[in-house]
Amino acid sequence: GFGCGIVGLPNVGKSTLFNALTRTAAAQAANYPFCTIEPNTGEVAVPDPRLDKIAAIGKSAQTVPTRISFVDIAGLVRGASKGEGLGNQFLANIREVEAVVHVLRCFDDGDVTHVEGTIDPVADADTVNTELMLSDLSSLEKRVTPLRKRAATGDKNAKAEVALMDAALEQLNNGKPARLADIAETDLPAFKALNLLTTKPVLYVANVDEASAGTGNDHSRRVEEMAAAEGAGCVVISAGIESEIAQLPDAEQREFMESLGLKEPGLDRLIRAGYDLLGLITFFTVGPKEARAWTVEKGARAPQAAGTIHTDFEHGFIRAQTIAYQDFVALGGEQAAKEAGKARDEGKEYVVADGDVMLFKFNV
Ligand code: GDP
Repeated sequence: GFGCGIVGLPNVGKSTLFNALTRTAAAQAANYPFCTIEPNTGEVAVPDPRLDKIAAIGKSAQTVPTRISFVDIAGLVRGASKGEGLGNQFLANIREVEAVVHVLRCFDDGDVTHVEGTIDPVADADTVNTELMLSDLSSLEKRVTPLRKRAATGDKNAKAEVALMDAALEQLNNGKPARLADIAETDLPAFKALNLLTTKPVLYVANVDEASAGTGNDHSRRVEEMAAAEGAGCVVISAGIESEIAQLPDAEQREFMESLGLKEPGLDRLIRAGYDLLGLITFFTVGPKEARAWTVEKGARAPQAAGTIHTDFEHGFIRAQTIAYQDFVALGGEQAAKEAGKARDEGKEYVVADGDVMLFKFNV
């Protein structure tokens, strides 16, 4: 599956947020199979109002949302890149996720100790980011030396890899994450394959106090500015509130959120932002038994989409009947879409669009 790693200094609200996420997931478990993969990993449903619309039109007995996972990555302290605390373990865990959710403490609460002494989310972000950059620097420096030697002998592959490493090193040596390097589209897969920590997309979570849940506060506004300057995402949330919402029965959740001026749980915004951050899109299948949302990466072709349902579907792929979400809803379902000529027969090269309602034809 696709995973977001939750990182941040100690005592910023990571576990509170993670527990709220998994409690929400546990509450949803009545509707669909839920599994906790490991104690620190939780899968959550991706909220998507389109799924309910499709199910209503298709008269499906149930809905099955698509899911992403969140991993609570504990143990980052200053010096992690030198092995302080659980440094090495921590960095290894980040290597395994596709995106980073970076939680920053934006709540003032005298009862909760701050490891650095003062509430300064921008300085905290800097502490964490510095550890990630130092770790990338030392890993690159180790790898690039032997490669340079091979490149000097005329090895073309080595040369190409050195060029990518140099692009990353240039950013890192300037105190910037490697993801800001200007890499040609065609080189991006190889650049990602360097498996650096700072090439992963980042979403900052400004964890504000309960009273600022609907409005944000001065700390979170600084975080928003920083995120914008870095081209990173940002979600303002109160982990404390989210944890309370997640414990309430459905009927009481809405009332509680309204009393706080919230339109929806912040977790829903966070999950969707995580999904976008991972570069994921959704396609749907619909039938009398269930309407279901499935995940593919942006740019995936029809056979890959078929493969997310079953590997046999990918190998035996013939074609995909595809109806755009808008057409499916506006026309009122598959039959009407067919009659209006809006059910396209797409082949192997078709690039899946977000919201497509698909039906695969395949050989077994
Ligand atoms: P972690 O070390 O980053 O996982 O942080 P925790 O989730 O364990 O939170 C550390 C402390 O901060 C706990 O006492 C939490 O109850 C408290 N905390 C977390 N989020 C909030 C919040 O939104 N508001 C307030 N007031 N306290 C919070």
